[in-house]
Amino acid sequence: LLADSLYIINNFAREYFTKTLLETEEGQNIGLSYFEERGFTKETIQKFQLGYCSNERDAFARTALEKGYNLDYLQKTGLVTIRNEQPADNYRGRVIFPIHNQSGKVLGFGARILVKNDRAPKYINSPENEIYVKSKVLYGTYFARHAIDRLNECLLVEGYTDVISLHQAGIENVVASSGTSLTVDQLRLVKKYTNNLTILYDGDSAGVKAALRGLDMAVEEGLNVKLVLIPDKEDPDSYVQKIGAPAFRQFVETNKQDFVLFKLQTSMQDIGNDSNRKSQLVNEIAETISKIDKVEDFTRQQDYIRQCSQLLKIDEQGMITLVNKFIR
Ligand code: ATP
Ligand code: MN
Ligand code: MN
Ligand code: MN
Repeated sequence: LLADSLYIINNFAREYFTKTLLETEEGQNIGLSYFEERGFTKETIQKFQLGYCSNERDAFARTALEKGYNLDYLQKTGLVTIRNEQPADNYRGRVIFPIHNQSGKVLGFGARILVKNDRAPKYINSPENEIYVKSKVLYGTYFARHAIDRLNECLLVEGYTDVISLHQAGIENVVASSGTSLTVDQLRLVKKYTNNLTILYDGDSAGVKAALRGLDMAVEEGLNVKLVLIPDKEDPDSYVQKIGAPAFRQFVETNKQDFVLFKLQTSMQDIGNDSNRKSQLVNEIAETISKIDKVEDFTRQQDYIRQCSQLLKIDEQGMITLVNKFIR
């Protein structure tokens, strides 16, 4: 089966890249020292199966082809590409982050350039194929699922290194959207483990706006969404490394805010005194509140009606009527 072949190739590649990282001179001098400079310990590197792809044009491709792996399949995984009519490595000179499914099988890879520049993308990610469907994957689920279950909360961050640094700091209930906006399938994946989703994004990030657009979807899926804005110029990785694990945990607890109320407050600031836009906002909020399952979560819906009417300075009974209009 094609899917099986892709899993087998990815698994071979993962092993190959970790070997290159840990056992070759180039891997140690370039890849390993990069990870060490980022503050990742040996244990962390091994746990997340991080790797390095040599800067030679086809070191991986040659080995894989010699072992008998099929060139078409190697291309389908995105590991190998044809350059000047010859098979060549796609992730040359990059550090490698394997992306696992919930049971630990490798779906694909993120490959980071060592030094950012304007000519090449910072990350190259595997293309979509029979096993890697971006919209259904959250990076880190395999490592986080037990902690998410136990703590009944899932933290959501933007990047691979955010997940890794938080784990290293002992915060293990964390997954990453990998820089894309949230999808229904990703929310359902979270929902398998918990109803409580806490988004940790940087305040100026496009990610917060994208997540806001997904808010109704999240509420509809029955998720209770909180938001923590990470200070300017930081992300969870840099911030936890800067202030340390206890202070970071404290920061998250102190700054956790309800996402529905966050949306209302930021929209109200945008709107000012424009009464047309205000009634539009009242409608939007009523629609969001209407998505909360009345049967499962009656008190939560009532709480939102009360808090939002107060913030909007409108009549609570009117809000109830409006919310009910949206319930089919
Ligand atoms: P680092 O700390 O290594 O710079 P990061 O995770 O902080 O990485 P961000 O720029 O915050 O990087 O992006 C968040 C996530 O978005 C990345 O982890 C990666 O999954 C994805 N991403 C970023 N840049 C790209 C890109 N050029 N192409 C594809 N995906 C990207
Ligand atoms: Mn960012
Ligand atoms: Mn970062
Ligand atoms: Mn980042």
